[in-house]
Amino acid sequence: MTDLEIAQQATMKPIKDIAAQIGLGEDDIEPYGKYKAKISTKFEHGTPDPNHKLILVTSINPTPAGEGKSTVLVGLGDALSSLDKKTIIAIREPSMGPVMGMKGGATGGGYSQVMPMEDINLHFTGDMSALTSANNTLAALIDNYIQRDNELDLDPKRIIWKRVLDINDRALRNTITGLGGISQGVPRETGFDITAASELMAILCLATSIADLKTRISRIVVGYSSKREPITVGQLGFEDAITILLKDAIKPNLAQTLAHTPAIIHGGPFANIAHGCNSVAATMTGLNLADYTVTESGFGSDLGAEKFLDIKAPQLGKTPNAVVIVATVRALKYNGGQAKDALQEENLDALKTGMPNLLRHIANIKRYGLPVVVAINHFVSDTQAELDLIKKAVEADDTTAVITDSWAKGGEGTVALAEEVIKAADTDTTFNKLYDNKDSIEDKLNAVVTNVYGGRKAILSKKAARQAKQFTDLGWGNLPICIAKTQYSLSDDPKLLGAPTDFDIDVRELVPKIGAGFIVALTGNILTMPGLPKVPAAVNMHIDDDGKIEGLF
Ligand code: ADP
Repeated sequence: MTDLEIAQQATMKPIKDIAAQIGLGEDDIEPYGKYKAKISTKFEHGTPDPNHKLILVTSINPTPAGEGKSTVLVGLGDALSSLDKKTIIAIREPSMGPVMGMKGGATGGGYSQVMPMEDINLHFTGDMSALTSANNTLAALIDNYIQRDNELDLDPKRIIWKRVLDINDRALRNTITGLGGISQGVPRETGFDITAASELMAILCLATSIADLKTRISRIVVGYSSKREPITVGQLGFEDAITILLKDAIKPNLAQTLAHTPAIIHGGPFANIAHGCNSVAATMTGLNLADYTVTESGFGSDLGAEKFLDIKAPQLGKTPNAVVIVATVRALKYNGGQAKDALQEENLDALKTGMPNLLRHIANIKRYGLPVVVAINHFVSDTQAELDLIKKAVEADDTTAVITDSWAKGGEGTVALAEEVIKAADTDTTFNKLYDNKDSIEDKLNAVVTNVYGGRKAILSKKAARQAKQFTDLGWGNLPICIAKTQYSLSDDPKLLGAPTDFDIDVRELVPKIGAGFIVALTGNILTMPGLPKVPAAVNMHIDDDGKIEGLF
């Protein structure tokens, strides 16, 4: 059965019953239909009970199909619930880009899924639309501002605020707006990003309250004056209007797993081109209400987990009690050089060659001082010899590995992992920061490149080096760094698989995201507006006369 068929046959509980499981009454939620609800923002506040555990799920460098991080995470949540632990899952909202493009939704798979699957993967509660509208309202206000008196002398050639869309649309990467004559606007070159890479998405995910949301929005730098002075949303006076457009989007969304574990699904920045973590509001709500909050960060420990630990955790005021690294036989063989279309065939040599990739991710998390459990996500094509090889190699590295059947058996197939996670989360830990925000931009980049990617150093282009100096002079040098990099390699070259060491990272440009509170470093050929693949998933989707959907994975 497909993921969609399993989801379509499942029975959901009314959302008010799911809310009641975590102590939320009818006044604490705003239902969106019968099975989805927004949670009142008041649960974000306060200091969570220090005994409440936070579990972070990350992975190795994946194949293009994904390695089942969400699937294992949902299974883990259900397994913890089945062991009588009060558990909340806190994950990201899917973007239409991967849903219509290549990778699929973000609701897990097999018997470890969150529901209602179709709604969550399509428009859900409208947060993506609200973010897209708010972002583009700001763009329209800026274009109107330069068309009128432009008191602050905002230079049309130095506007950095772009429009966004929640779909992969390569045709809009570079655009010219304002064409058609003097009353149609000021012509200027600009472009579109995907909503998941936008600064407003990052802001929504890092804001701790409506007041904080507004403060961050007013700090956004939209561009520079002709004297090269930064101009902010606050100077333009647009912050209230943009915050109003996000007043509901900032509230976390409640849904459920197939086994009725409460799932908060909120915020969806990608981890390759943004900071890759669900919202602080959602994770904080989980930490306030549940004994175990299981959360994820996108892609591997080089992307999402690094950003979780260096960017999100300081906002959250808590670091994870344990980290699960999801690994698969197929991705390790892929990292070991096995061809993409032969990943189903046993190949112990390729697996051995790919193993250093997993060991590198384990070392990355241990460097932060956090306990690690490896979840080997079991696929039917895996052979026992392959599974044994991974388990033995991980155990030889003094780390626990559990073969996990979340996809085929749901929570029941994930109980052994849950038991190890409970043990790991009870260990006393001391968190080792990767860098100090006070370090220079170059030093912070090098800290990530050498300690997490395993490379030599970050090489800044002339432009990036000039920007690093300019940003430091402007007082932005003490912000954390959010590196945009391919997810397929620890390096910035998607073809350099395994655990390479002899490489530098090319930083071609820096982008200030002052509202979000970090500096983005664009590396290699990474783009903030992805393109659709040769055969987009959209082509295989169908809807019948009764509205029944097929082909949504
Ligand atoms: P990630 O979070 O790493 O991107 P997902 O959990 O979204 O990965 O899973 C990607 C796809 O792989 C989904 O369609 C899911 O159903 C499928 N999948 C995950 N684990 C397994 C498994 N063990 N066997 C078969 N398919 C799986």
